[in-house]
Amino acid sequence: MGGRFDSCQGHILGTVPACPERSRREGDCPWDFMYNLHCHSLLSDGVLLPSEIAVRYLSLGYRAIAITDHVDYSNIKSTVESILEFTRHWSKHKLPIDVLPGIELTHLPLSQFAPLAKYARKQGIKIIVAHGQTPVEPVIKGTNLAALNADIDILAHPGLISDEEIRLARKKGIFLEVTTRRGHCLTNPQVVKRALRLGAKLILNTDSHAPGDIIAPSRVIKTALKAGLNKREIDKIYRDTERFLKKKEVE
Ligand SMILES: [Zn+2]
Ligand SMILES: [Zn+2]
Repeated sequence: MGGRFDSCQGHILGTVPACPERSRREGDCPWDFMYNLHCHSLLSDGVLLPSEIAVRYLSLGYRAIAITDHVDYSNIKSTVESILEFTRHWSKHKLPIDVLPGIELTHLPLSQFAPLAKYARKQGIKIIVAHGQTPVEPVIKGTNLAALNADIDILAHPGLISDEEIRLARKKGIFLEVTTRRGHCLTNPQVVKRALRLGAKLILNTDSHAPGDIIAPSRVIKTALKAGLNKREIDKIYRDTERFLKKKEVE
C-alpha cells in the first residue's frame, strides 16, 4: 500500500488540494495516510461510479479506499464480479490511491453471514464489512454476533453492542466502526468508550453514498474527537488500519 505513494503525485488532478503533502501543510490532514474502507457506488445504493468515488477521495488526500456495496443472495455474484473487474483494471494505472474490492453484507438472515463471507473471500474480495445493528434501521436482532462469527473485517455502525460481542471482535481482530454517517453516528460515543475499555480495534469510515458524504480528512477527525477519541487514540486507529492493509497486500 505504501511504496509507490512516496512522492507527491497530487498534481495529476486539477483540483485543490490535490495531494496529501499539500493537505498536511494546510492543516487539513494530520495523518500521513488517510483511508476509508466503507463506501457505496452505483453497484448498490450509491450514486457514483467506483471511478468517480476514487477520484473524489484522491482529490481530498486519501491513499486507499474500499468500495463495499451492499449484498445479499440476490446480487452477491454480480457485485463481486463487477468490483473485482474494476479494481483489477484500476490497479494497472498507478494512480496514487489504491481501491480495494469489498462488499457489505447487509440485512441478512443470521445463518447467511458465514456462507456469503466465505463465498466473497474465495472470489478475491479483500474487505468484508457487515452492516451492524445501527439504532436507526430495523436490523435483525443477533446480527452483530452472527457477523462477528463470520469471516468479516469490519463491523459497521454496531449500535449498542454488547461486551460479549466486543470481546469476540477483539479475539478475531475485527474492527468496530466509528462512522461519520448521519443517524448511524448516534452511538459512536458508546462504541468508542466500550471498545477502548475492552481493547477492541476501532476504524473510522464515512459509509459514503453520494458526493456530499465524501468528506475531507479533517471532518473525519472532527467526528472522531466528538465520539470521545483523543489524538493518540486516533493515531493508533490509522496505524492499525495501515498495518491491516499491508497484511492484505501480501495475501
Ligand atoms: Zn447504503
Ligand atoms: Zn454501508
